[in-house]
Amino acid sequence: MRILVCGATGFIGCHLTRRLVAEGHDVRGVDLLPPRYMEASGFELVTGDLRDPAFVADVVDGPFDEIYQLAADMGGAGYLFTGENDATVMFSSAMINQNMLRAACERDIGRIFYSSSACIYPVENQLEPDNPNCAEDSAYPANPDSEYGWEKLFSERLYMAFARNEGLTVRIARFHNIFGPHCAWNDGKEKAPAALARKVAEAADGGEIEIWGDGLQTRSFLYVDQCLEGTLRLMRSDWAGPVNIGSDEMVSIDRLVDMLIGISGKRIAKRYVEGPQGVRGRNSDNRLIREKLGWSPSQPLIDGLRPTYAWISEQVSAA
Ligand code: NAD
Repeated sequence: MRILVCGATGFIGCHLTRRLVAEGHDVRGVDLLPPRYMEASGFELVTGDLRDPAFVADVVDGPFDEIYQLAADMGGAGYLFTGENDATVMFSSAMINQNMLRAACERDIGRIFYSSSACIYPVENQLEPDNPNCAEDSAYPANPDSEYGWEKLFSERLYMAFARNEGLTVRIARFHNIFGPHCAWNDGKEKAPAALARKVAEAADGGEIEIWGDGLQTRSFLYVDQCLEGTLRLMRSDWAGPVNIGSDEMVSIDRLVDMLIGISGKRIAKRYVEGPQGVRGRNSDNRLIREKLGWSPSQPLIDGLRPTYAWISEQVSAA
């Protein structure tokens, strides 16, 4: 197949392009930035700004069997939940999605995938750490806790509108906290597993690390290979989504840190400090994906944390 991956040098994009190349597809990747964490090999990489409609028209220059639209202005709590980047996060991602959909209508496109997020779910359904509700049909009445979440919800609707009115075949997933090697880990856009793994890797044996909040907030984390598996299964299925792609192994941030400390083999104390945290509790509800795809992620969290910690530890040592 001829496949376009937008956001190809980003964390999920670089894993996706590698997998699609290994499957033998003819892949074009596009990103604002050159490769940062993983070499881009075996595919054509085009560098440019998807907010520019002329550039997007050049990139979508003919038929593609599949387009994966992963490009977004994206980060962890320190980037998305402080409020300081709201205008650029909303503007950039909305522009990218509008340009991509318009260009897709001009060409013969088999299917287009959009990566939405668990951040679209209403804040009031995620107040209790032990009992969050993230079932797909709980998205409305809408009340995401961040502008990033509002843009994702708007763009979900935009993709669905283009499917209805323009005949595009659209697939939408709501990713829940994806992690793994080759992610952002020290540039201000890192997410909790990478940030905490870095702190543990940097700490001396007998040292201390800082945790944002009281550590009792809950999340689930999905290893990147499982995310790709779900994404490709959804893309090639008859189900359009939106559907959660996430782990339902919910843990407290404290538990996540303990797992990382255990992997490191060090003795490390935890200090709880003020910091952006997002919602109090969040977990992937996997009933719909099981029903529609006959599959859901199954890998235990600890199995993904080991290679992730090893990779971040290497980056810390090399820095
Ligand atoms: P990432 O930031 O590593 O990758 C996004 C890529 O998009 C980056 O390489 C960036 O340079 C590129 N990009 C941004 N603006 C661009 C522009 N104007 N033109 C061209 N390229 C541009 O993020 P990721 O973790 O790989 O996430 C991929 C997608 O999945 C994003 O849409 C994100 O919102 C979504 N998502 C990710 C997670 C997660 O836990 N990683 C969770 C939910 C949703």
